[in-house]
Amino acid sequence: MKTAVVTGANRGIGFEIARGLARAGIAVVVTSRSLASAKEACEALDGTVTPWELDVDSDESVSSLVRMLADRRSVDILVNNAGIALDGFDAEVARRTIDTNYVGALRVYDALLPLFATGARVVNVSSGMGDRDKLGARLRERLDDPALDRRGLDAFMREFVADVEAGRHAQRGWPSSAYSVSKIGLTRVTQILAAELAADPRRILCNAACPGWVRTDMGGRSAPRSPAQGADTPIWLALLEDSGPSGLLFRDRRPVDW
Ligand code: NAP
Repeated sequence: MKTAVVTGANRGIGFEIARGLARAGIAVVVTSRSLASAKEACEALDGTVTPWELDVDSDESVSSLVRMLADRRSVDILVNNAGIALDGFDAEVARRTIDTNYVGALRVYDALLPLFATGARVVNVSSGMGDRDKLGARLRERLDDPALDRRGLDAFMREFVADVEAGRHAQRGWPSSAYSVSKIGLTRVTQILAAELAADPRRILCNAACPGWVRTDMGGRSAPRSPAQGADTPIWLALLEDSGPSGLLFRDRRPVDW
């Protein structure tokens, strides 16, 4: 039986991703910042589901997940779904948002990379809000540089936080949305990871998904899509066949420009 790890699976889109994968016959590690809510989510799911406490902001929490997975099995699917969209915009919001939505996803990816099985799939739940046109021309040029690597992108993301802290982010060409910048980073790093993984004999595919505007605590009540509709493309990417694409952003199961 294949194993999937879904972050932020206690509610919203993550819960529906866990449901879809469990229905597909995959053993799902349903992770949440609170063990109680992970257990509650598992009670509402059919199939082979395991609740696990995971805060993507914490090295210790991620290490504990790795220990549990290494003891039991390898990992076939990682869905980096956990994310935040905080109100307002200041240095604290910028730091926390980049930490969770960008650094947090990579913390989990890096930790699980040695455990990935042959044919593993990585899905990063990004957003159409992460449109790189939101960056000024010079930033956009740096982001689009084909030579940009993980280290360069990490520094790029830290520069955003530093520029907000220094009160010069607009002057430097950053948008006043930490959420947008975090998702620009997540989609761009998906390309970089896919390129790195192309040299890995395990044939791992890594893609990003935009779920659309979804009725969740984050998306609000007026959003047109249900959480299950939002989960469709991430689930589809998690189950891609070996000949599938890698390094792209998908919406409604189709690659999209961003
Ligand atoms: P949601 O209902 O607010 O759920 C967010 C999930 O992320 C919750 O399970 C939350 O856990 C978890 N989370 C937040 N910080 C975490 C951390 N540090 N460690 C572990 N888990 C953490 O949001 P959603 O709408 O389902 O969003 C899921 C993903 O889709 C996000 O990445 C979001 O950016 C993306 N997205 C959503 C929309 C939309 O319209 N809703 C559109 C585009 C993209 P707690 O319950 O503990 O807070």
